[in-house]
Amino acid sequence: MNTLGWCPGCGAVATRHCWVRHNVLTVNAALEQLLQGDAAPSGPPLHTGGPLAAPPPLVARHLERLKDGDHEGEALQALTLLSGKTWDVILRGGGHVLSGTLRDIKDPETKALLLLMAAKGELTSRAVDCAKDLGHKDQALNLKMILGVRRLLNVPMNDLYQEVLEVAAPTVEQLSLLQPTDRALCAAFVMPRLRRLRVDGFVDESLRESLHTIESNLELNLKQGHVQWLELVAFPPTLLKVVLKAQRLSLEVLQLTAPDYYSRLDCDELLSVLEDCELRSLRRLVLVKMLDDVSPFYDNHVKFDREGCVSKREALLEALPEEAEVVCALCDGESVLKPMMEQL
Ligand SMILES: [Zn+2]
Ligand SMILES: [Zn+2]
Repeated sequence: MNTLGWCPGCGAVATRHCWVRHNVLTVNAALEQLLQGDAAPSGPPLHTGGPLAAPPPLVARHLERLKDGDHEGEALQALTLLSGKTWDVILRGGGHVLSGTLRDIKDPETKALLLLMAAKGELTSRAVDCAKDLGHKDQALNLKMILGVRRLLNVPMNDLYQEVLEVAAPTVEQLSLLQPTDRALCAAFVMPRLRRLRVDGFVDESLRESLHTIESNLELNLKQGHVQWLELVAFPPTLLKVVLKAQRLSLEVLQLTAPDYYSRLDCDELLSVLEDCELRSLRRLVLVKMLDDVSPFYDNHVKFDREGCVSKREALLEALPEEAEVVCALCDGESVLKPMMEQL
């Protein structure tokens, strides 16, 4: 499940479809092939077989590093870069700017140079924010932008989402979903590399009556996940237990935000959820207006409910591992809200 493949035909990380229909290579084999120049679609290859003829030591060293298994992310980035047909190059230095486009490069030396430039310049693959970056009319172009992505933000639940999630699935490590359906949530939890997930809202308000059906559907389909950081905003309390249970072995940080009355639980209810879920790796629970038996308004909370909040949080600790802490964004200040989606 965790093995990543490279599809030379698609010029991208292999999707499920590629594994079935296309010739998928291991990441290392794909790197070798690209640098040997025999992946050129037309015309005879410039280099046939064998390793790159006398590669400069720097290139050889870098290639070995990419292939050692610990730098798979970088290797994928290199493959994505080298699979392009044209490269826009801008060199800015000493007050001068040179820019141009490289086209149709098949010789391995230039490819090796591109690879080194990417590595030396520590170029990183940027995250894709669906709200900002996926405005193209051409859906194929939208999906291409997602290939190989490690951080994918604000996936909306429109017609595109299913394809977006499928294309991102092999590589995505950090994901945020806006008002996902139960189906989207299940799809997220089986992504092999997903470690951080933010869920903002859940389905449409009008679907709240059908939460019962959704709950049984989730119970049936939610697979044991490996998410370490989970942030749930305005999440229906009825579904909380099912979702947490599926992450019970891996979850380290859980942040619950309840902007409205509907997503709050009182201390006893939350305690019972936590007891049922046995989150054995949890070290930090962050509550943002989550408890229904203390005021969600800052002034009232800190003036009248501070002690109550402390004792309720102590009660919750009973259900958590010994070293865990429970913090409140109102009592402890906004600094407790560590950004869930860190730079990769
Ligand atoms: Zn393919
Ligand atoms: Zn508090």
